[in-house]
Amino acid sequence: MSDDNILSGAPADDDVQYDDQIRPQRLEEFPGQEAVKEKLRISIAAAKKRGEPLDHMLLSGPPGLGKTTLARIIANEMGVDIKQTSGPVIERQADLSAILTSLEEFDVLFIDEIHRLNHAVEETLYSAMEDFEVDIMLGKGPTARSMKIGLKPFTLIGATTRSGLLTPPLRARFGDTCRFEFYSPEELQAIVERAARIINVPVEPDGALEIAARSRGTARVANRLLRRVRDFAEVKGDGVVTREIADAALGLLQIDALGLDAMDRQILTTVIEKFNGGPVGLSSLAVAVGEERQTLEEVHEPYLIQLGFLKRTPQGRVATPLAYKHFGMTPPQTGEPQLF
Ligand code: ADP
Repeated sequence: MSDDNILSGAPADDDVQYDDQIRPQRLEEFPGQEAVKEKLRISIAAAKKRGEPLDHMLLSGPPGLGKTTLARIIANEMGVDIKQTSGPVIERQADLSAILTSLEEFDVLFIDEIHRLNHAVEETLYSAMEDFEVDIMLGKGPTARSMKIGLKPFTLIGATTRSGLLTPPLRARFGDTCRFEFYSPEELQAIVERAARIINVPVEPDGALEIAARSRGTARVANRLLRRVRDFAEVKGDGVVTREIADAALGLLQIDALGLDAMDRQILTTVIEKFNGGPVGLSSLAVAVGEERQTLEEVHEPYLIQLGFLKRTPQGRVATPLAYKHFGMTPPQTGEPQLF
């Protein structure tokens, strides 16, 4: 995957710094996801009033919509610390036990990509979530014995891009589930304008809206595009992000009016031209476009499906008539012959 991939490329060091700089810290600084925020405000107020930790919570939705950011905000609002890790990183039960026993009362443990926990680690999590205790193995071989250790009450926040892959026992242990939705252009405009203020970039409302409309409903993409457009504005203009500057910069990045990038277009044209509109299996499609299955499934497809360009069927991926129309092509005639 090229470093240049604005959607999914591994962030460079200065991207990480930029992300930290513009990351909202409190609920009122976080535009969008109104339904999620409303629910959270109530849960946080109730937990504080009762003097209890917040219920364990599952945040689900495509990458870049603010799940990690919101987990940190929840910890801030509760006035507690947060420890952050991710499913594939916790390899052994002992690793998880070490993290759990280091938590202070009411702390938040954030596990990103929680659907990728291995089975043994996941089982350790069950008693930790339910009874605030873990079994620790002492010794090895035939003399090994396990000992229960009590934990301080804590809140687990799990994030997942694939909530369907969560096992039922794990899912059942979350008190609350919040689904993140793609942002509207207006919400993304507010996100772009906020980030521009923080990094001191003059942006006209039309310029921010142009970036927003082409950010595929995703906060992370909007913030990254703002930086690219800022560079363009400084070199080709007078530094101000106007609609024209944004349009020209995004054109140069090959991001079209709907926010589709070169890979999105390649996915659709491959389904249409090489596989006759589908159905085509995910693995064949991944090979044909030279991208990883996981990236296709978690990063590209959700937005193409949301636009109504792609459908997931039991037989494979299918391009819809809308996708053909987007490329000025005519969909093949299917279905019943028309009766006149
Ligand atoms: P996720 O965990 O869902 O992949 P992150 O929380 O890491 O997403 O967010 C990705 C980037 O987008 C971060 O730089 C974050 O600051 C920014 N971001 C996400 N949601 C918002 C929002 N509602 N307002 C402003 N910035 C946001």
